[in-house]
Amino acid sequence: MSLNSASMNSASLNSASMNSASLAVDWIRCTAHGLCAEIAPELVTLDDWGYPIVADTVPPHLEALAARARAACPAMALRLSST
Ligand code: SF4
Repeated sequence: MSLNSASMNSASLNSASMNSASLAVDWIRCTAHGLCAEIAPELVTLDDWGYPIVADTVPPHLEALAARARAACPAMALRLSST
């Protein structure tokens, strides 16, 4: 790997981390179905009552999975936003 490609890879990683998305739960809407954790276990775990504990930051390679979990939520309680 040349110095230039190493620099470009580093710049790409920095750019990706600056453009990461975040996942949040609307606690008024969430009814603890747990579907989000089934669809995206890399991003969501459930607490003892079945309510989701979501990752604060969604890495770029998991954004499509986060979008699937959001779309599948029967209560429309998941929000995915870019930071
Ligand atoms: S799928 Fe929706 S309602 Fe069910 S636990 Fe996840 S966020 Fe809450």
